[in-house]
Order: sequence, then structure tokens, then C-alpha cells
Amino acid sequence: MHAQTKQSGKELNLTEKLIARQVTDTARAALKEIVGRNMLPWPDIYSAEFWLLAQKHGYEGILLKRHEIKCGSKQLAQEFLEKADEILGGVNETVSSLVNGTISQTEEMASTIEALKNIPIDDPEVSEGIDRLHDTNIKLQIHSSNMETRLEEQSRLINELQKQLRKDSLTGLLNREALNKDLKKELAKTRRYHYPLTVLMIDIDHFKEVNDVYGHLAGDSVLKVIARLLEKTIREADSAYRYGGEEFLALLPHTTADEAMILANRIKDIVAKHTFIDKTHDISISVTISGGISEFRNGDDESSLIARADKALYLAKQNGRNQIVKL
Ligand code: GH3
Ligand code: MG
Ligand code: MG
Repeated sequence: MHAQTKQSGKELNLTEKLIARQVTDTARAALKEIVGRNMLPWPDIYSAEFWLLAQKHGYEGILLKRHEIKCGSKQLAQEFLEKADEILGGVNETVSSLVNGTISQTEEMASTIEALKNIPIDDPEVSEGIDRLHDTNIKLQIHSSNMETRLEEQSRLINELQKQLRKDSLTGLLNREALNKDLKKELAKTRRYHYPLTVLMIDIDHFKEVNDVYGHLAGDSVLKVIARLLEKTIREADSAYRYGGEEFLALLPHTTADEAMILANRIKDIVAKHTFIDKTHDISISVTISGGISEFRNGDDESSLIARADKALYLAKQNGRNQIVKL
């Protein structure tokens, strides 16, 4: 009885303690190796997998099996870029203050050198020395300003990459990762400032048939065109995302469900009237869309709001498609 209680209790026995220490040592060694090989460190959210691998395979296993971790490379890159931006921001601040300091010092040097040049000096070595000082000072000025330009370019590049990572590569709309972040932010604002927030979920009707009849490339081109039509129809404060394969989502801040209904019906009609041309088959394709709308209610979180829009979309499909339902 006594032994049983001890075993089921939280206290570790000697073997468990040894294993725990082994795992800790392994993990520490692996981390050292990862950093030493200039590999991307693992984000915290994957720490569970990290420990599991450490226990099962030792640190060589961690290094070899690192690619098996089920994390989207995009997400990993995003996290890395966010960190890089933060780091670069800090480095930028430090370097630009150093560069500014250098620039003002070289200016001061320039005026001192100029003053020295105006003093008649007999010794040619001293004159030459002043000339050399003058040249070096100019080189330093050029170098500092080049450094400033390069830092600005690098910051721009990082910003550009961050924007690209938020986009869906086929349609150019914002992607699911971007939605997760934006929805969280919008919900926080809505809760704080009490303005309406509505989501509109759109799904192409019988899209499988488009692929089956005209091929995937034609299907892709329909997706791209619908993305453009959606972008054109929403307002500037709204955002359009590719939610999944042939599903889109519009995030509509400061919009009630009734207002969203008007917008959604407009998009639905535009799509239904649009002729999608498949050049390879020299054929015109018609498609329709269905939509589900949900407006933020007190107590909603990201998933309840989306789930309601999804349910509304399901009802629109059930009612015969080519229509919008709000819940
Ligand atoms: P429903 O009206 O019920 O929505 O019918 P559906 O055929 O649209 O729905 P279903 O979910 O059965 O099929 C969705 C199709 O969308 C299947 C999949 O091949 C296609 N799809 C998803 N992503 C892409 C893509 O990126 N390109 C193309 N061409 N097709 C895609
Ligand atoms: Mg679908
Ligand atoms: Mg569909």
C-alpha cells in the first residue's frame, strides 16, 4: 500500500531522476549544437516535440530529425522574421546612433583639419600628416553614410519579406496565418471600443466540378479572379483572406451583419454575372458562391465567431447555394 502511494505520487524515483537528468543534458547539448551550426532555434511552441526527441533519440537524433517536426516552414520563417525584425530594429538603433556620432565627429575633425591647414607649417612631414588626416576623415564620412544606406535597405527588405509571408501565393490575398493574427487584434479592438465587427465566409459552389470538367489550372484561374472581385468590392478598412482551398473570408470592422448582407449579396451577384474564360478550352465558365455571415456578440472569441459564419455558410449550401445566410 505504502509503495503504491509512493509510485503514484509526484515524487520521482531514482531511475526517473536519472532519465530526467539525461534528457536535460541531451537537450542542452543539442541546443548548443544547433546554435553552433547556425541553425534556426526552435520556437517555444515546439518544445514538447523537442523534449520527446531528446528522450527518444539523443541529441544527434534531434539534429537529424529536426525536419520532421510538423511546423509549417512558413510559420517558422514568420517567427524568425519577426525576431529578425526585432533584433534588426535594435541593431539599427545602435548602429544609426553610432553612425550619427561618427558623422558629427568627422564634421568636427574636418573643421579642425581645415583650421590646421590655414596655419603656415614649415615641416613638410606635419603638412603631409594633416593631408592624410583630411583624406582619412573623408573616407570615414563616406563609409558612415554607406552604412546608413545599407541598414535602411536591409530594414526595407525585412519589411517586404514580412508582407510576403502574410500573403497567399496563388491569389495574392492575405493568408490564414495573417487572418489568425488580424482577427485577434480586431476582436480586442471591438471588445474595447464596442464597435461592430462582422465576418463573411465565402465558398465557391460545386467547385469540384469546375476542376473535374476544365482542369485544375482553370480552377486556379477562377480562384484568382474571384479573389480580385472580392478585393474590389470590399472597402478599404476591410480585409480579404484565402481561408482554405476554395474558401474566402472577409473581415469587416465597423460593419453590422445587416450591412455585411448588402455587401455579400453584391459580391454574390458580381460573381454570378461574371464570365470566367478558360483560354485553353476556349470556353466560358460560370460559377456561383455561397456565403455565411456572423457579427461579433459578447462572449465571442475567434473560433466561436468563425464557427457561426461557417454554420451560416452550411445553411446557405443546404438552402440551394448561390445565396448568403447570416446567423
Ligand atoms: P460545394 O458547393 O458543396 O462547396 O461543393 P464543392 O465541390 O465546391 O466542394 P468540395 O469541398 O467537395 O470541393 C472543393 C474543391 O475545391 C475540391 C478541391 O479540389 C478544390 N480546390 C481546393 N483548393 C484548390 C486550388 O487551390 N486550386 C484548384 N484548382 N482547386 C482547388
Ligand atoms: Mg469548401
Ligand atoms: Mg465549394
